[in-house]
This record gives sequence, structure tokens and C-alpha cells, in this order.
Amino acid sequence: MLILGSGPAGLTAAIYAARAGMAPIVVQGIQPGGQLTTTTDVENYPGFRDVIQGPWLMEEMQAQAEHVGAQMMWDTIVEVDLSRRPFRLIGDGGTVYSCDVLVIATGAQAKWLGLESEQRLRGQGVSACATCDGFFYRGKKVAVIGGGNTAVEEALYLTNHSHDVTLIHRRDSLRAEKILQKRLFAHPQIKVLWNKEVAEFVHGDGNRGLVALDLKDTRSGAVERIDVDGGFVAIGHHPATELFQGHVDLDEDGYIKVTPGTTNTSVPGVFACGDVMDKIYRQAVTAAGTGCMAALDAERFLAEADYEALAAE
Ligand SMILES: Cc1cc2nc3c(=O)[nH]c(=O)nc-3n(C[C@H](O)[C@H](O)[C@H](O)COP(=O)(O)OP(=O)(O)OC[C@H]3O[C@@H](n4cnc5c(N)ncnc54)[C@H](O)[C@@H]3O)c2cc1C
Repeated sequence: MLILGSGPAGLTAAIYAARAGMAPIVVQGIQPGGQLTTTTDVENYPGFRDVIQGPWLMEEMQAQAEHVGAQMMWDTIVEVDLSRRPFRLIGDGGTVYSCDVLVIATGAQAKWLGLESEQRLRGQGVSACATCDGFFYRGKKVAVIGGGNTAVEEALYLTNHSHDVTLIHRRDSLRAEKILQKRLFAHPQIKVLWNKEVAEFVHGDGNRGLVALDLKDTRSGAVERIDVDGGFVAIGHHPATELFQGHVDLDEDGYIKVTPGTTNTSVPGVFACGDVMDKIYRQAVTAAGTGCMAALDAERFLAEADYEALAAE
């Protein structure tokens, strides 16, 4: 069993697969530990009364996977052949891997605006996940940047914590579904600023993170400053699936399609878990949950294949 990705999905699959005797190999990719290694405080992963640190959680998960027998490879897969089993994959140094079952857990990265100030203030007021970080802005002023479903959902979610939510969109209408727009426009805690784009994320003195946004009017070019404590960039995610195009079925946004209620992809013996197949929840605990499912689905697939091989003899 080969697992691509060492975030919560891949490592949970590794823990279950190792304990089921499948001797999994985890190819870690360029971000060992996955997205949670890029954050600090994690307060919503069950099992910990106090706030824990994302990188620490992922070190523990990796140690747990290794402890039960999973093997880690510091490599990134650059080529796949899923046309027949055993599947054949190639790492970026030329190492060839073959496996009877493959678990894809390569995640999805948030899209960013690409400003230098945005990069500098990530984790210090700038975030791409309201579910993850909204709680840290209780009673504070926040802004959401974007105009699609994600942006509207993030704005609505943030009203659980903030009485002052501003949605900033560079056009004069939203792409989000009408029902979401209705809820947004009716909400007394949300206001919308149209035809504005973020020119700069402004930091405060000393250690203070984000304190304001400089907004440029997309029609007149005029720049105005608004005070905010948190800025949530919600312009979509990019699933890491280029490698699998033409090999497994992807949906219109590039996410791996699975049979609902399972982690089965369009290729028998290939399973997908975590953010790479989930554009709704995108949380560490849901990634871990589907990682568990992938290992169990793979184990059943192998057991059935063994049975059929025996029956054919
Ligand atoms: C800043 C930030 C803060 C967050 N805070 C929280 C939080 O507080 N609580 C919460 O529940 N969630 C949080 N999240 C979301 C959470 O991190 C993700 O939902 C979760 O990490 C998804 O897990 P995953 O295993 O599916 O993918 P990822 O964590 O994205 O891991 C993907 C893995 O795939 C590997 N990979 C990619 N391509 C290849 C390849 N070609 N070959 C081999 N390996 C490859 C990468 O190296 C990586 O190890 C946060 C996310 C971010 C960015």
C-alpha cells in the first residue's frame, strides 16, 4: 500500500493500514505534515483540552504512524501509471514505487491574492479559513475577501463571533448561489463593499499583526483604508491533482471524485481522502476521518481480491 501525502488524511490512513498489517509506505511530498505545519494554534482537534500547535500535532501523528510500522519516504511523486495493478509511480529523484493499492491524500491549498503583505501577515490576522481561525476574532472586526460560495459562507460563519463583518468584492455582483446571497444581504452584522480590491494588508506597530486594509476602487482607482482585526481570503482552493488528470475522474473544480459514502475513486484499488476529495469541510479532523475510511476501504479491496484469486485457482 502506497500513501501519497503526510497530512492528517495520509497519516491516519497509514496508522490504520499499518495496524491492519498492510505495511504502508507514505510518500511525504514537499510539505511533510501537510497544511497544519503552516499554522500555530489549533483549538478544534479533539482530544486536547488546551490549545495545541499545528506542527506539534503533525509530528505526533507521524511518530504514531511510524510507531505502528508505517514507513516514511521523503519524496514527491511526479508520474503515475494507474492503468494496471500493481500501480507504478515515480518519485522526483527517479525512484520507482509499485503498489497493489494506492491512497491519494495530496490535499488542497488555499488560493491567495499574491500580495507580499498578505504573505507576511498570514497567521497574524490574515487567514484563509474562518472555521479554523474565526474563534480567535470574538468581538472583533473582520473582513472576508471574495465573491463566491466560500466567501459568503465564511462571512456568514464569522457572524457567530464578530458583530462587524465586511465582505469585500472586486465586482458589483456575487457569484455565490442566490440562496446564500439572500442570507448574506439579510444579515444585520454583514455589510458588503462592492468594486473594491485589497491593495495592501496593513500591519500595526511592533508585534501587532493586521490592523487595516487598503482598498482600491476597481472603477475609480481611489484608495481608502478600513480598520479590521482579521482578514479572511476566500477566493477558492486548488486541489493537488494535476498528477492524476486523465488517470482518475476529477470533478469540474479538479477534486478527485469518490463514490459517496466511500473513498473509492474511478479506478479500483485507488482511494482518495482528505482535502483532495472534500471541498466542503476541509478540516484536519474530517481529513483524518476519511483517511481512516481509505485504509479500511483498501483493506477490504485487498481481502476481496485475495478471495477472488483463491477462488479462481
Ligand atoms: C493556515 C491553516 C490553518 C489551519 N487551521 C486548522 C485548524 O485550526 N483546524 C483544522 O481542523 N484545520 C485547519 N486547517 C485545515 C487543515 O490543515 C486541512 O484541512 C488538513 O491539513 C487537510 O489534510 P490533508 O491530509 O487532506 O492534506 P494536507 O494537510 O494538505 O497534506 C497534503 C500532503 O500531500 C503531500 N503531497 C502533495 N503532493 C504530493 C505528491 N505529488 N507526492 C507526494 N506527496 C504529495 C504534501 O506534501 C502534504 O504532506 C488549516 C489550514 C491552514 C492552511
